[in-house]
Amino acid sequence: MIPMSLAEVAEVVGGTVADDVPGAASVVVTGPAFLDSREVVPGGLFAAFAGEKADGHRFAEGAVSSGAAAVLGSRPVGVPAVVVADVRDALQRLAHHVLDRLPGLRVVGLTGSQGKTSTKDLLAGVLPAAGATIATAGSFNNELGLPLTVLRADAGTRFLVLEMGARGIGHIAELCRIARPSVSLVLNVGKAHLGEFGTQQDIATAKGELVEALPEAGLAVLNADDPLVSAMAARTSARVLGFGRGAGAAVRLSELEVGPDGRPTFTLAYDGRSARVRLRLLGEHMADNATAAAAVALGLGMDLDVVAEQLGEVTALSRWRMELHERPDGSCVLNDAYNANPDSMAAALRALVALARGRGGRSVAVLGEMLELGESSAEEHRAVGRLAGELGVARVVGVGPAAAAIVEGASETSEEEPVQVQDNAAAVAWLQEHTGAGDVVLVKASRGARLDEVASALLEVD
Ligand code: ATP
Ligand code: MG
Repeated sequence: MIPMSLAEVAEVVGGTVADDVPGAASVVVTGPAFLDSREVVPGGLFAAFAGEKADGHRFAEGAVSSGAAAVLGSRPVGVPAVVVADVRDALQRLAHHVLDRLPGLRVVGLTGSQGKTSTKDLLAGVLPAAGATIATAGSFNNELGLPLTVLRADAGTRFLVLEMGARGIGHIAELCRIARPSVSLVLNVGKAHLGEFGTQQDIATAKGELVEALPEAGLAVLNADDPLVSAMAARTSARVLGFGRGAGAAVRLSELEVGPDGRPTFTLAYDGRSARVRLRLLGEHMADNATAAAAVALGLGMDLDVVAEQLGEVTALSRWRMELHERPDGSCVLNDAYNANPDSMAAALRALVALARGRGGRSVAVLGEMLELGESSAEEHRAVGRLAGELGVARVVGVGPAAAAIVEGASETSEEEPVQVQDNAAAVAWLQEHTGAGDVVLVKASRGARLDEVASALLEVD
């Protein structure tokens, strides 16, 4: 955060410094804003919301006594504070002010149906070689989280990487008004949130708002292999850089191999040069995400060899995404339980099969419901099951009633009869009994199914 006195903050957000604390106007905020009084940032600004269940103002005093500089709220609270009518709006105004004061900062906005967080994490691993980088933490990617990320920037920050999820038409446009990206990356338009949105074209329309928001001097980084994404080039007059596997991509992935350890190696080509990249991350789809991240970095002027080297250094992604854990019995768990949709299921199943082959063990896919698929839900679940069998997954275990369609599909194509279990506990019990040395167990479903519990139970029980 750029250091600011409360008098300055009040002026920027159109509020007043609460007059119940003498001298409050000259208190200086040095740390960023935060919402949870249990996670105090020293010198930071505690944003107190009067929610329906809990009133944040009650925690204001505690936040300041634990090190926060001041409070942003809707009434005086007995500690240094700026009082405003609307705290959310004030945070957004503050974010605009910070962006205005940091003209050299490049804001990268990224969206897509899958791979946003993974690609954001890859960028957070690559861009620091060119300058200090701040990226969205966790899932702070809505109207409230976005300004908080912006407020973490200061005079030393070169790049701000912001994950933007689209919840409907107009949503990303609003996020762009808050954060003003000058680089927009669109990964793909898949089937995630189909239920909520209507058609894939509607999803493309919503995601394209990220490209539309670019200034003329901006950069649109678009997936050249996805027709719905590459068509977005028509929605901006900014420079366009395509990435992908096809011949039309300016930043191109080729000669992709997935090693027996599940790690992809590939050639990255750009502007007449090429470099070999070996990722530490698992699964072929991470090569696509890495190519997208590379395109942003190259578009921002980074050197190809540096980009390739940095990509190879990235180790852990955000949790529950392709996490591989060994178990004492010699089997291992591939925890990809963060979320699931048909495309990410396919990517994870491929990684599972490659890994199991490499380890000379059996592949077991523990799969649960994919949410938000709308009318095509049952058919999509069946298709995932069929694909598992076709790819050669040894055993499919469906968890919960909604997974029955997965099991049905798998039984059409699998050599071994798939298994249906009632719930997470039953899945754990089945796995304890039926898996052993060399086996690889993939655990994956939509967040709501909480299959991460299966993964953690397997890792704790031994
Ligand atoms: P969310 O919308 O939940 O924020 P996200 O777009 O941020 O998701 P990630 O968290 O990176 O995506 O990954 C979600 C799931 O999709 C994980 O299971 C991951 O392995 C898978 N995934 C990541 N990248 C791709 C890709 N390029 N193609 C298919 N699946 C992918
Ligand atoms: Mg995400």
